[in-house]
Amino acid sequence: MTGIAVFETVSAMRAAVAGWHVAGEKVGLVPTMGALHEGHIALVKEGQRHARRVIVSIFVNPTQFAPHEDFKKYPRTFDDDCAKLVAAGADAVFFPSVEEMYPAGFATRVLLLGPAAAGLDDRFRPTHFEGVATICCKLFTQSRADFAVLGEKDYQQLKVVTRMAADLDLGIRIVPLPTFRERDGLAMSSRNRYLSPEERALAPMLHRVMQALAGRIRNRDDLFRAVADAQGEIISAGFELDYLEARHAETLAHVTSLADGPIRILVAARIGATRLIDNIAV
Ligand code: AMP
Repeated sequence: MTGIAVFETVSAMRAAVAGWHVAGEKVGLVPTMGALHEGHIALVKEGQRHARRVIVSIFVNPTQFAPHEDFKKYPRTFDDDCAKLVAAGADAVFFPSVEEMYPAGFATRVLLLGPAAAGLDDRFRPTHFEGVATICCKLFTQSRADFAVLGEKDYQQLKVVTRMAADLDLGIRIVPLPTFRERDGLAMSSRNRYLSPEERALAPMLHRVMQALAGRIRNRDDLFRAVADAQGEIISAGFELDYLEARHAETLAHVTSLADGPIRILVAARIGATRLIDNIAV
């Protein structure tokens, strides 16, 4: 017993959504991979501000993991997740099997350009966004939700999915939500539970360095020097840095100064076996 409606098939979810729509109720979708934390619950609450009904999907999507990544060991905490969703007042969980989402013979991917080819996470996870976009496209068309709430925590993903939903006329609005953080600034993430106590103590540094960098950019310091200094600090602290960059907040294109438009700072760095990503506005 989970205390919340759990749909394991597309047809069951669609029937419920159709019923709500007939009753004149708007429906929001919150796509997740489970292992829910307060950031995910904030997405549910945001959904409830826009709609009477909120469905949360929980699916650890194999196509967005590379073979060497953590698909097998990704935390799966379904009962605990359901308890949190009951407490949050969510209406239903979509919890499909891999076979429901990728039946035998499945052979389609969404091809992405623009923000998906910005040279950020795509450089280090070359097949990641096509997996994300494919599953989001399926979830959007399967659910027929009116909107989906996505976190700014995965900023490039937010831009990729927003672009795709518009480009493919998926008929769904993407509602972004700012990142939920621990008190020390660390962005909440299902992967934080992989961190040892020492790694956990070091992790909030990413946010502190980004904040300092944002201050320097706002003060019109030389952008290249400020970014290079911030990269150096992260590496000196013991992280393996994939990237720390200042990019155009909408297009993710390279920028040379504040004059080029709104700027977003994005970082991906590894501590031990755990890869952390984060971003802030300048
Ligand atoms: P995930 O389950 O990690 O794939 O994330 C599912 C959704 O939750 C995505 O839209 C994420 O951007 C969002 N999310 C993850 N962490 C946070 C956070 N700390 N604050 C806000 N949204 C988040």
